[in-house]
Amino acid sequence: MRYVKKTVRDFNPQGKRVLLRCDFNVPLNKETGEIRSDKRIRAPLPTIRYLLEHGAAVIVCSHLGKPKGEWKPELSLRPVAKCLSELLQMPVKMADDVIGESAQALAAELKPGELMVLENTRFHKEESKNDPEFSKKLASFADVYVSDAFGTAHRNHASTAGAAAYLPAYSGFLMETELKFLGRAMEKPAHPFVAVLGGAKVSDKLDVIQNLLEKADKVIIGGGMAYTFLKALGHNVGASLVEDDKIGYCLEMLEKAKKLDKTLLLPVDLMVADRFAADADSKVVDIDAIPEGWMGMGIGPKTQKIYADAVQGAGTVVWNGPLGVFEFPAFAEGTRAMAQALADLDAMTIVGGGDSVSAVEQMGFSDKITHISTGGGASLDFFAGKDMPGVMCLLDQ
Ligand code: ADP
Ligand code: MG
Repeated sequence: MRYVKKTVRDFNPQGKRVLLRCDFNVPLNKETGEIRSDKRIRAPLPTIRYLLEHGAAVIVCSHLGKPKGEWKPELSLRPVAKCLSELLQMPVKMADDVIGESAQALAAELKPGELMVLENTRFHKEESKNDPEFSKKLASFADVYVSDAFGTAHRNHASTAGAAAYLPAYSGFLMETELKFLGRAMEKPAHPFVAVLGGAKVSDKLDVIQNLLEKADKVIIGGGMAYTFLKALGHNVGASLVEDDKIGYCLEMLEKAKKLDKTLLLPVDLMVADRFAADADSKVVDIDAIPEGWMGMGIGPKTQKIYADAVQGAGTVVWNGPLGVFEFPAFAEGTRAMAQALADLDAMTIVGGGDSVSAVEQMGFSDKITHISTGGGASLDFFAGKDMPGVMCLLDQ
């Protein structure tokens, strides 16, 4: 996949109508409907400001939640438009529909320097089907398509990819930054290139493990996925999270690492618990000493040291997946130790993945990491080396 794309700097926005796809899929409070975090609304603000200041009329579209083609008032983008208006300190027009009369009328009247928001694109089932007629209708509102929706770029939907077929398509600044860092790491990383992989399940990351094993010089494995690897090597992992149907896959990866002469590191000691709970009884044991019925909740101190040493001198480090159940403070240490190790490195460090990013942010290491991806699933597809429709549809530089 080509990732060096034309950006909003590559056309003159003056007097143009721009259809801007953002990822405004914000977390909502289920009871009150309130927006729990405006992070995703803030992320594309530089692009929005740039377009408005350069005389574009900006028509923003996004999905929110999973209305599955039905009109669900609780998933309206109206609160997002209100938040946007507060952040930008300017009026933001809100359409009552996506491609209907209200949207059409507002878009037709929109003047340079003005901003409007369309309703939730997923209120139409045509969105997720990437229906050409629906895409064409969206595109008909504008002269230019811009995407800042990196977080949804792995979806082949009408607003993320389809509409771009009918308009010249450019990346916004957020998209540009994501592609720059993730693209460089995947295509021409500074070596040694180290991948740190954790999180819950092997099955969620099959292509990520395989692709990074091929691209990186060293792969470090922790988190829940480590136990299927350890079991594959004959260790007794007690009640730890294991996917028996992925043991074959793990053996294949271990074999592959050997064949490619890559270092693949697995934990040598663990923090174990007698049950899956924040206040469980816990202790540190070597991997061959997990008591019957106990489970691995994170990497132990010896492993933390080995892993921190393993990233020393790296040119590039990509990290996906917490190295333990970081949500429980008693088991967060392994993840914190890796965050600290990366923070101290003089290397290009990249963290991607919903939970990995929350962990690093929550622990206060964000500004010591080179790039923290805003796209959860999208960054995983990038690490897996997959083509992304929302990126491929943009004009190459
Ligand atoms: P990301 O969202 O960064 O891609 P994942 O969704 O794959 O990461 O995994 C995150 C989850 O993995 C966390 O909720 C964490 O509690 C869990 N996890 C990490 N280590 C373990 C473990 N040893 N046992 C069970 N779950 C784990
Ligand atoms: Mg996750």
